Amino acid sequence: MAQPKIVIVGAGPGGLAAAMQAAHAGADVTVLEKQPRVGGRTSTHQQSGFSFDLGPTFFLYPRVLAEIFASVGRNLWSEVPMRRLDPQYRVSFGAGGRLDATPDIEEMERQIGALCPRDVGGLTRYMRDNRQKLAKFRPILEAAFNGPADLARLQFLPALQWLRPWRSLATELSSYFSDPRLMIAFSFQSKYLGMSPFRCPSLFSILSYLEYEHGVYHPLGGCGRVSQRMAELAQDMGVDIRLNEAVTGFDFRGKRPTAVRTADRTYACDSLVINADFAQAMRSLVPNELRRRWHDQRIASKKFSCSTFMLYLGVRGLYRDLPHHTIHIAKDYEKNLRQIEVDFTLPDDPSFYVQNACVTDPSLAPEGCSTLYILVPVPHLSPGTTWDAATRQRYRDLTLDQLKQIGLDDVRERIVTETMVTPADWQSQYDVYRGATFNLAHGLDQMLHLRPHNRFEDLESVYLVGGGTHPGSGLPVIYESSRITCKEMLPRLGLDTQFIQATQGLDHLGAPKPDEVARSGLAFGVRNSEVGTLQTPRSASTASGADAVACSAGDSAD
Ligand SMILES: Cc1cc2nc3c(=O)[nH]c(=O)nc-3n(C[C@H](O)[C@H](O)[C@H](O)COP(=O)(O)OP(=O)(O)OC[C@H]3O[C@@H](n4cnc5c(N)ncnc54)[C@H](O)[C@@H]3O)c2cc1C
Repeated sequence: MAQPKIVIVGAGPGGLAAAMQAAHAGADVTVLEKQPRVGGRTSTHQQSGFSFDLGPTFFLYPRVLAEIFASVGRNLWSEVPMRRLDPQYRVSFGAGGRLDATPDIEEMERQIGALCPRDVGGLTRYMRDNRQKLAKFRPILEAAFNGPADLARLQFLPALQWLRPWRSLATELSSYFSDPRLMIAFSFQSKYLGMSPFRCPSLFSILSYLEYEHGVYHPLGGCGRVSQRMAELAQDMGVDIRLNEAVTGFDFRGKRPTAVRTADRTYACDSLVINADFAQAMRSLVPNELRRRWHDQRIASKKFSCSTFMLYLGVRGLYRDLPHHTIHIAKDYEKNLRQIEVDFTLPDDPSFYVQNACVTDPSLAPEGCSTLYILVPVPHLSPGTTWDAATRQRYRDLTLDQLKQIGLDDVRERIVTETMVTPADWQSQYDVYRGATFNLAHGLDQMLHLRPHNRFEDLESVYLVGGGTHPGSGLPVIYESSRITCKEMLPRLGLDTQFIQATQGLDHLGAPKPDEVARSGLAFGVRNSEVGTLQTPRSASTASGADAVACSAGDSAD
């Protein structure tokens, strides 16, 4: 075949990672992106001189992306400078108490002892068991699942004993911690999948293990910077990335797409990769009658993740005592989760997450100011949901009031610029079906071969990458999906994938050793002395406590 043509719909992290690998293999790659920027949900939202991550803020398990970079001859760590955070995050409990999560396990055991002496030792056991569990599960997360027969492959058998399908994540964690607060501190990570720990499979106990063992990173400039750099590198390799170019449909010969249509042009293709939100893209771009398995009715009957209510605030001054990441857990967490996943009502005492990124990365705000990113898990859109102006206003007020629970009493007075994103906006502006920000839910009934396959089963020469396919949502597994997809697609186009296999499994290629990794935690006593290479935020000396300093980007709230 002459140089094969691959068209990728969407420049999200999955689409960009696939583009880099396909171009490296020798394909002629075009990426069509509807938005004026790359990165999809992992992009940078700019506002009056402030930069916010639109979606992901936790950069976890960099190993997968480091291997992908190495496979195309690049070094992730020099292309995208990152800081390993310590503390990784603070967990504040509405029921009382808090935990500053650190990879220093002895220090963690000390904090655990202060919350519940009976639970000391639980973390050490948890780490040991999950180290084994991840080692057994890695082959499953790295392989394609095209049918039930794939589950029976020999190398997967040792993992099955760890699957424990009858157990939820919460039940699993209760075998390590008797204090419900500690159970939550090691299971709230199921929020990355948009699921409650009481419904999420026990398999996902590996998520918080990954944080403690492999670190929580902040890419300088934010996670959106990772997407930008990937796009730049892809362009260097010859990928044609076309922004502001929404795909409107495909031309088919039988079940095989021959071309991709946009408002202005038609792009011929030998293979098509869909990175756009799976449910939304299928329903809007592929005729229903061509989809035998994933027809509209079936998609509508699937379970979807929760959504998020977002506030991106540019504020005067800097909250120096607030860590980079803080997760606040509602006093009645089970009720909070029930409202989101079962009742589909807006939580009245919601859990929430705040990113105070300028304690680590002052480049994100104008001098004298800082950014606050606030995420509140809420139900995805359902027939009874409304996000009219009154609901938006009410939820904004409730969210700002909630911040008092983590000591932010004066946020309203400090706001200089503000953007709000509701589930309705995720659907209408960002093409996310039902505003379900973390895609199809991750119950065992929607995983492995039961999730839409990387080599899409209903069509020919069509592949999926991103959170809607195997292995699932969350950056490390989204990057992994691009490797699985490329290994399925490229050989069928006569291209070699040896370069992908050659770097797979080489632990943390080029990663800084732990003590070479600059740490955040500017506001954290002893650890501040370890910061070393980090600069104090430009305004920090005058911006602590109530002494807000004037900020030049004086926009009022939207
Ligand atoms: C609020 C939030 C917080 C998150 N936090 C984390 C976190 O901390 N850590 C983590 O690992 N993960 C997190 N995630 C989950 C996940 O990592 C991101 O959502 C990720 O960006 C999904 O990547 P993707 O490859 O599936 O594609 P997306 O990011 O969804 O990108 C798809 C792209 O396709 C484009 N597109 C859609 N339709 C068309 C069309 N018709 N034509 C052309 N282009 C089109 C879109 O514009 C978009 O750019 C978070 C997600 C959200 C929303």
